[in-house]
Amino acid sequence: MDIRRRQPSPPLQSASKSSAVDHHPSSPKASDALPLPLYLTNGIFFTLFFSVAYFLLHRWGDKIRNSTPLHILTFSEIAGILCLIASFIYLLCFFGIDFVQSFISKPEADEEHQRFILHEDREIRSPEKAIAAVELPQGDEEVVDGVVSGEIPLYSLESRLGDCFRAARIRREAVQRLVGRGLEGLPVEGFDYDSILGQCCEMPVGYVQIPVGIAGPLLLNGCEYSVPMATTEGCLVASTNRGCKAIYASGGATCVLLRDAMTRAPVVRFSSAKRATELKFFLEDPLHFDTLAAVFNKSSRFARLQNIQCAIAGKNLYIRFSCSTGDAMGMNMVSKGVQNVLDFLQNDFPDMDVIGISGNYCSDKKPSAVNWIEGRGKSVVCEAVITGDVVSKVLKTTVPSLVELNMLKNLTGSAVAGALGGFNAHAANIVSAIFIATGQDPAQNIESSHCITMMEAINGGKDLHISVTMPSIEVGTVGGGTQLASQSACLNLLGVKGANRESPGSNARLLATIVAGSVLAGELSLMSAISSGQLVKSHMKYNRSSRDIAKTGS
Ligand code: ADP
Repeated sequence: MDIRRRQPSPPLQSASKSSAVDHHPSSPKASDALPLPLYLTNGIFFTLFFSVAYFLLHRWGDKIRNSTPLHILTFSEIAGILCLIASFIYLLCFFGIDFVQSFISKPEADEEHQRFILHEDREIRSPEKAIAAVELPQGDEEVVDGVVSGEIPLYSLESRLGDCFRAARIRREAVQRLVGRGLEGLPVEGFDYDSILGQCCEMPVGYVQIPVGIAGPLLLNGCEYSVPMATTEGCLVASTNRGCKAIYASGGATCVLLRDAMTRAPVVRFSSAKRATELKFFLEDPLHFDTLAAVFNKSSRFARLQNIQCAIAGKNLYIRFSCSTGDAMGMNMVSKGVQNVLDFLQNDFPDMDVIGISGNYCSDKKPSAVNWIEGRGKSVVCEAVITGDVVSKVLKTTVPSLVELNMLKNLTGSAVAGALGGFNAHAANIVSAIFIATGQDPAQNIESSHCITMMEAINGGKDLHISVTMPSIEVGTVGGGTQLASQSACLNLLGVKGANRESPGSNARLLATIVAGSVLAGELSLMSAISSGQLVKSHMKYNRSSRDIAKTGS
């Protein structure tokens, strides 16, 4: 028995039933019975028991020798007997109960002991924060113990248990115990963990809830769309909704797709810059395009090579492949095609050293001029004419003040700031909210939010022409997070769920135009709020919680 850890009966009960709250929070090794470390408590009772026993035996020996009746007790003898009984009870609980339990139910006792150790460990790691223990079904508790002790790797639960929900629940409990902080509030039930296995998220412990609001109807190219936006930013949906209303009242917006091509750019190295240029000229020679396209397109029935663009840095060559990818956002598809071409090139250029399948000239999830200028994913332009009447009645501003603000803020102000694709008011707000709602890769918000917003007074200064030009909207309606239940429902609401069988790629292209149309609405509304001085007022109303945020602190 490890006397540093065990204590009398109360811990044995609390180990199984109570949470860490039951333990003394400020003294990790203190016993429950006394506010002292366990080894001190044990030491005191051991010493007390033996010294009192010695004292009483000594006194009774004297009494026998002097023929004094044993039942006549002095005050010190009464106190000694009470101390003996008290320390005997303590020691009996300490050793006896464990001894009896080891006969009655050894496995259960071990489990209790393990749990107690876990609770104790947890307190040592984070004494100031206790977590509520969750009742797990029989068997799960042992798996949690295995994970906490390090015997079972956290990542292996799905494959070991063959049950994704059970794996998530067990991992969640183990993580709470390891970290010593609770995950109450992060739901674990009500989610299909099988649907994310191997493609969306590893080692799940639950899911974050993000509210989805609806802006619309957005009247775009003659069709109406209710746009789902997942956000926790107050005002955003309301503002986009107002923009949609202004567009609707003015006859709708028009959006045109300029280009549809996902890119991937590996970096390869040669022993000389001259040799690198030989591959560049080979790749850019129109005579070689069909052969390279045939090799590239083998990767998928939807991947179609469109263009190869090269950039040299010394003896290193960056090769930017562009291809259409059907309804997929296309990163996997284009990467497979690029790998095919690199393997093929190795025959004619055996001295080519492939440094990386991605050399950042692609450029994925980073702000870059190449995406801003050349485009990546879907390149679109969206426009609307907002009548002067709507500008004053719905947007509560005037055409000249909107045009002036756009010039000084979105164009000049962004130029002063050295913006890269950021010539807009808040395109990223709308892009991110739609991306999260529809299962896009939120990190691609970086290039997908590249946008220049233009405003001009037309019809003799009466009406407003507004446009957003967005060269790099990276969206798909198949693959990634798009097939998950909630995200798929949002795509369904827009009528772009999954693959378009009649015309592969048209669902993803339509989604890109809806993103741009929503950005147009968002730009219109926010710019109007700024120009009329309403921004701060409405944010104070919708975007600031009146709850006491101090209470939510950790
Ligand atoms: P990504 O390339 O965006 O990462 P995935 O590779 O995960 O996307 O998903 C694309 C998969 O969906 C491919 O296996 C492809 O064959 C399949 N697919 C089915 N229908 C289509 C479609 N209409 N457009 C694109 N891909 C499709």
